[in-house]
Amino acid sequence: MSDHDADVVVIGAGILGLSTAMALAQRHQGMRVLALEQESDVGRHQSGNNSGVIHSGLYYRPGSAKARMAVAGAERMYAFCETHGIGVERCGKVVVATHESELERMRELHRRGDANGVPDIRELGPDELRQFEPNAAGVRALHIPSTGIADYPAVCRKYRELLESAGGSVRLGSRVSAVRIETDGVQFSTTTGTVRARHAVNCAGLQADRLARQARASEARDLRIVPFRGEYYDLVPSARQMLKNLIYPVPDPAFPFLGVHFTRRLDGSVEAGPNAVLALRREGYRWRDISPRDTAESLSWPGFLRLARDNWRTGLGEVWRSANKQAFVRALQRLMPALESAQLVRGGAGVRAQALRRDGSLADDFEIARQDRMIHVLNAPSPGATASLLIGEEIAATAESAWFARQTST
Ligand SMILES: Cc1cc2nc3c(=O)[nH]c(=O)nc-3n(C[C@H](O)[C@H](O)[C@H](O)COP(=O)(O)OP(=O)(O)OC[C@H]3O[C@@H](n4cnc5c(N)ncnc54)[C@H](O)[C@@H]3O)c2cc1C
Repeated sequence: MSDHDADVVVIGAGILGLSTAMALAQRHQGMRVLALEQESDVGRHQSGNNSGVIHSGLYYRPGSAKARMAVAGAERMYAFCETHGIGVERCGKVVVATHESELERMRELHRRGDANGVPDIRELGPDELRQFEPNAAGVRALHIPSTGIADYPAVCRKYRELLESAGGSVRLGSRVSAVRIETDGVQFSTTTGTVRARHAVNCAGLQADRLARQARASEARDLRIVPFRGEYYDLVPSARQMLKNLIYPVPDPAFPFLGVHFTRRLDGSVEAGPNAVLALRREGYRWRDISPRDTAESLSWPGFLRLARDNWRTGLGEVWRSANKQAFVRALQRLMPALESAQLVRGGAGVRAQALRRDGSLADDFEIARQDRMIHVLNAPSPGATASLLIGEEIAATAESAWFARQTST
């Protein structure tokens, strides 16, 4: 009898940890798959605090993992939600050029979308734009009908249910504090005791780089996860009818995030945001959430200093928008001039786990590193929720070829 507690441990029960654990348990009957989650429920961090959008695949560099997985992943997510009775709507969105100077970038998005296989993108003139979104103002816009919205917390709960019905399990309130690779497996020190597994997958989101460094994954040496908080405002109920679906700006290519936008949620509420400010704690949802260790690690990372040097103006603008509601409102009014400050109240926040390289470049694509006994998800920004079914399946397939094929042949 093996002295391992599990065949595969997955660290983290966010949308990617759960999809990976579910894929492994469903593909291998009898395999003991255990997800360890530090919080008292699943999906408490990025997966439960995102914009709730099923991204179409418009933004991403053709040939990238993001492009491939967003387009195919979106269709899988629609089908998954429909099959399991989870809230979802293929409502479409508009990307609005508010000035002539944005037209070339908007058309580049159109070309990217076409190259990635995003269906039926159409350029709109100002009058057509008003038919889709009467309160949006722009010189021209793109309409993307395949974008939608989904209830990702419910998706997480369903992944957990399917994982458990395939024989796997989730241990909540179990924080992994140390990882040690051994000759025949991986040992974890956790707040619920020592756990040993033959193999492990690190889907720890905001903490993934630290655990990967403990496991001595070489790819983690040149990466640091820097937490960027995204803050939202909510439209007061009487202003919700100003929006039909989703309104996005043309993103700044120098910046990895999409810019503040309007998103209708499934319950009819409307969120505006998110901005992007450095969080002073990895799970820092408010300015007063401060961890001296996390802050020192971000600020002392050579890549952060380079990023700050090259983007200080943008960074200060984001901090200013965080502190000053009028500045946030002005950014939103570029898309919707009739919006008034009194129609917005402070909403929630999410913290993005953004991997930053030593040279100051932001890791743009999904990054997954493989060791002998572990796989590490080192960068899984948006559209990670959209692509979660595919990412989980790809990790399970990688695990199969690297680990289980070898086991059966020896
Ligand atoms: C503000 C924001 C908006 C976004 N909008 C969208 C969107 O509209 N559409 C989209 O497709 N994507 C969006 N994304 C991206 C998407 O949410 C992420 O790609 C996805 O949630 C990543 O999932 P994850 O499981 O890797 O991370 P997480 O959900 O963060 O899960 C990691 C889990 O690991 C646990 N954990 C960490 N350390 C430990 C430890 N030591 N021991 C045990 N457990 C641990 C955490 O508690 C957590 O539950 C957005 C992200 C953010 C932050």
